[in-house]
Amino acid sequence: MKVAIYSRKSRDNGNGKEETLFNQSSSLKSYAEKKGYTYDLFEEVESSLNERPELTKVQLGIEQGLYNRIIIVHVDRLGRNISILSTIAKLCLTHNVMIETPETVYDMKDPSTKMMFGFQSVIAEAEMDNIRDRLAKGKYNTVAERGRHLVSVAPLGYSYDKNDKKLHVNPDQAPIVRKIVELALSGYSTRIIAEKVNQLGYKTAQGSFFKGDSIQRILKRRTYLGEGFYNSKRLGKSATAKDCHEPLITEEDFNTIQTLLKSRICKQNTKSLGIKSPLNKLLVCGKCGGGLTIQKNNKVSKDKQKDLSFYQVRPCHHHINEYTHCDNGGIKIGKLEKIVFEAIKDKKDSIKKELQRLLKNDVSGTKSRMESNLLNIKKELLNQDNQLDKLLNLYLKEKVSEEVYDTKSATIKEVKENLKSEIELLEYQLEKLDVSSQLTKVDKVIHLIDNFHEMAIEDQQATLRLLIEKVVLTKPKGQLKSSDTKVEIHFREL
Ligand SMILES: [Zn+2]
Repeated sequence: MKVAIYSRKSRDNGNGKEETLFNQSSSLKSYAEKKGYTYDLFEEVESSLNERPELTKVQLGIEQGLYNRIIIVHVDRLGRNISILSTIAKLCLTHNVMIETPETVYDMKDPSTKMMFGFQSVIAEAEMDNIRDRLAKGKYNTVAERGRHLVSVAPLGYSYDKNDKKLHVNPDQAPIVRKIVELALSGYSTRIIAEKVNQLGYKTAQGSFFKGDSIQRILKRRTYLGEGFYNSKRLGKSATAKDCHEPLITEEDFNTIQTLLKSRICKQNTKSLGIKSPLNKLLVCGKCGGGLTIQKNNKVSKDKQKDLSFYQVRPCHHHINEYTHCDNGGIKIGKLEKIVFEAIKDKKDSIKKELQRLLKNDVSGTKSRMESNLLNIKKELLNQDNQLDKLLNLYLKEKVSEEVYDTKSATIKEVKENLKSEIELLEYQLEKLDVSSQLTKVDKVIHLIDNFHEMAIEDQQATLRLLIEKVVLTKPKGQLKSSDTKVEIHFREL
């Protein structure tokens, strides 16, 4: 006998929609696995018409005797409307099906459970709004005021300790996360990273193979910075808590990886897996700004004896408006590669010059000025924190009203945000001034360029993504001289 896992996200959830549904499903899946259930998963995205096709499937399955349990996060996931709930309750009673949440099992035959289910349904209808408000406020305060992380399921690399209610580094899994970070910093795409860690025999927290999107989720997760985060659409605000647990990635590496992830220009180009060019996914149309794809041109000689096929950048066909397509032309990929490789060689020379300049240049004066400036701003930030504490105390002792507290704390928080971004900027500039760290980076890049032609294609791709943000191709239509073709290479800041 199987169980039916039913998860639903409602329409009014705004951002983070997928995350919510994903969390619901994945925690229910691991719950079912722990219990040894085999399951079918039903994921509902509530439509504007309030229809629930997935729930209907569950009901049909129950009528056909396929399931003996419905697994849900909370009764209210079935619906907050009494008529839906009582229909399902009746169905469950007739077919001897239990409704199970991670907290409770509802057996409809048990009169007390039936009553409780009814009671909870009534709560779902009448008071859920209030309860949810209180829950949201409680969660928000846990993160914002007490600086704690709200843990539901420990992400890969951590274990959850029930006693101190914190995440702790899981020594078996943390190396996997570190490896993924290391590969991402080398510029590999999420798909290649998944391949590589699978080859190393690593598995996800659920014990399955990694895929591009699971890698992507890991790399975007701020939990690995040691942060706790809570976003409440209900309250219209979000809270972040720092230093909740030991981080597995540094802020700097995290930011670098976000930039690299964003730079995947042509995301929809999934058919390009077999494309043998390191320029793949770096190409942008100079006329409309859309991503350009690479395709095979299956040319055959006139006598049909010789295969003259070649790879080319496909002429751009993006819609400019309802009626017109972009008419930017294509180019043989070999030609474009030559141009880019030449540019990289030139880039190497200019990097070397930069290196010499760095070695000669004495930046110690500027550095100490910036450092004392940074120290002052950090003191000021501490000062603002103290003010916020004092204000909270006054509010708790009921010496100031909620209104005063809200306005004043909002002002302080705004000042704090400004100070924080100034600190970030200064730290970034200081780091750029740090000759030794800059030298290491430059050395690494020169090494990569020197070995470029001996690398495997995915390593070449990774190297180009580290060096180049995008390659913009502009080629007027028609029989024109090749000198009319314009190739702009946008290098990244090192
Ligand atoms: Zn275009």
